Formats: sequence, structure tokens, C-alpha cells
Amino acid sequence: MIKQTLTALFLIAGLASGINAMDNSDNTKSKTAIVIHGGAGTILKSKMTPEIEQAYIEALTHALKTGHQILQEGGSSTEAVKATIVTMEDSPLFNAGKGAVFTHEGKNELDASIMVSSDRSAGAVAGVSHIKNPILLADKVRTDSKHVLMAREGAEEFAKEQGFEMVDPKYFFTQNRWDQLQKILKESPDKMQLSEDEAKNSKFGTVGAVALDMNGVITAGTSTGGMTNKRYGRIGDSPIIGAGTYANQYCGISATGHGEYFIRAAVAYDICALVEYKGESIQEAADIVIQEKLKAMGGDGGVIGLDKDGNIMMSFNTPGMYRGSIDVDGNISIEIYQEQ
Ligand code: ASP
Repeated sequence: MIKQTLTALFLIAGLASGINAMDNSDNTKSKTAIVIHGGAGTILKSKMTPEIEQAYIEALTHALKTGHQILQEGGSSTEAVKATIVTMEDSPLFNAGKGAVFTHEGKNELDASIMVSSDRSAGAVAGVSHIKNPILLADKVRTDSKHVLMAREGAEEFAKEQGFEMVDPKYFFTQNRWDQLQKILKESPDKMQLSEDEAKNSKFGTVGAVALDMNGVITAGTSTGGMTNKRYGRIGDSPIIGAGTYANQYCGISATGHGEYFIRAAVAYDICALVEYKGESIQEAADIVIQEKLKAMGGDGGVIGLDKDGNIMMSFNTPGMYRGSIDVDGNISIEIYQEQ
């Protein structure tokens, strides 16, 4: 585990940029926090090389710091979540944007969603294949349409209308992902696989971020290429509000794992409901859903999230989950395995 305190650094940065934490009589309101994941699955230290491990630590650190800086400068949690996820969509290390997994037919079909606590506004896209940063389009659906979820050609038509640049689907190609599809097509063509459970040297995953800003607003977002060898226009939990992503005034959640189970268990909403109705802490609520309910159903994966006070939560029932956070005191933490 890497832990370093950035409080002093951010305090200086905060003073320099004139953050109005001083005028705020309620101290908790000026606190910010951010938590991210880069996918869960069979991630074992014994199968990891130091170089790959280092690459993940760097990518996760960069993602976290990008979002945290926006929060510390007084930016919204929505801007922080978008910017954080964009860094991971642009990195071939993760199963989102560049580096997304392939469908049975050898295509990349991307899903993303975002939700904001203050007005429970939400936006999502599913099955897009020409959008460089699907999280930005999901947010456009939230802010500039009457809908919550748009799919495939329709979503791309909306993107064009909104001035999004269309990228050649070749942009998403990575050799590793292609090799993973070829392997699974040869060995078990009817099986769908979590990206992290594939070829032993390619441990990449869906990405997500949840942030709390100075105004106490929580935003949660998730972006993915889905599962390798998916077909028939299959859509997982990541663009489904309440399953892969949820945010209300109590908590924000982003999930990763075998989407079918996360949809059936309404994972993200269920965790927030336990916090709201039963008064569970966000960690207890997540453990009930991930370690008990989901496990009993046979669902693999994990979640990250935070509550209105910025308490960070991480819970997963797989050997590993790429994850990291910067808490309300500025402590940064990056972890990969179950036992660090
Ligand atoms: N939840 C994603 C899906 O089922 C996959 C993942 O998290 O890796 O599409």
C-alpha cells in the first residue's frame, strides 16, 4: 500500500487559489474526497510483474490527483469524476475507452453512466463504438437531453448533434484485448469473461469514480467495454442507474464485476438504500451487498463509494480490485490485491 499525506501540499495550493474554506462555518462542507476503481477480478500478486504493477499504480495515482485537484480548486464533483474517468478511458491499461474488450464479433461496444446527488440527475450510454470518451457523452445525456439512457446508433446521432468528435473504431484496438478474444473463442466460445479473469498477463478493468465536492454534492460515474465475447447487443450493469452507478444525498457508488448479477441485485442502489433506510455505514452496507447477497447469488466483483461526510468505502469479493482514494484529510491510498 502506498500512503502519503498530501494535506499540506493541497492546503498551500488551496490558499494560493483562494478557496473559500475559511468562510464556511460548517467545516465538513469544505471537505472533498475521491475514490476510484479500475476493475475487479482474479488479480493475483503471484501473476503480476513489477512493471505492470507500477504502471497501474501510476495510472491510478494520475487519475486520483486529476480529480482531487479539481475538487480542491472548488470544482464540482461532476467535473472531477469526468476528468478522472477520462484519464482512465484514455489509458490502454483499463477496459474502458482505449483498451476496451472485444465483443464476440470482434468489435468494441462501450457503456458509461454518471449520476449527481443534488438533483438525482443521471445520464448513460450503451453500446457506442465511435465515442472516444463515453463518460462525457453520458454526462451530455444527463445535461442536454430529456432522457437517462441512450443506446448504439441513437446515442451516436445525439453525440453528433452535440458536436462530439466521432473516432474510427480502430482507435479502441489493442493487441492484448484482441488476443484475449481469440483465446476465448478457441477455448470456450459461448463464455463471457471479466476482463481481469483473462490471459494472465492482462489484468485490465472497468473504471469508476465517486467524488464529494465542497458543496457537499456527490457524483458517481462508471465506464466500461463490458465483458469479453459479449454478443447479441448485451449490455451490463455499468450504464444501468441503480446497478453499476448510483448517487443520492447519502452516498455514491460505482461498481465493477459480472454485470448480470449486479443488475439483478440492483447493487449500487441497494447499498445506498441500506445507508438511507437502515442507517448502516456505507462500508457495512457495501459488505452486506457484495460479501453476502451478491456472493450467495454467485456474482463476482466489487464496488467503491463514499458517503456525504466523505467516508471512503471499498468492498469486493474477488482476489483483487484496482482501487484508490484521497480522503477528506488528503491521504492518498492505492491498492490492488485482497491482502496488501
Ligand atoms: N460490469 C461490467 C459489465 O458487466 C464488466 C466489468 O466490471 O469488468 O459489463
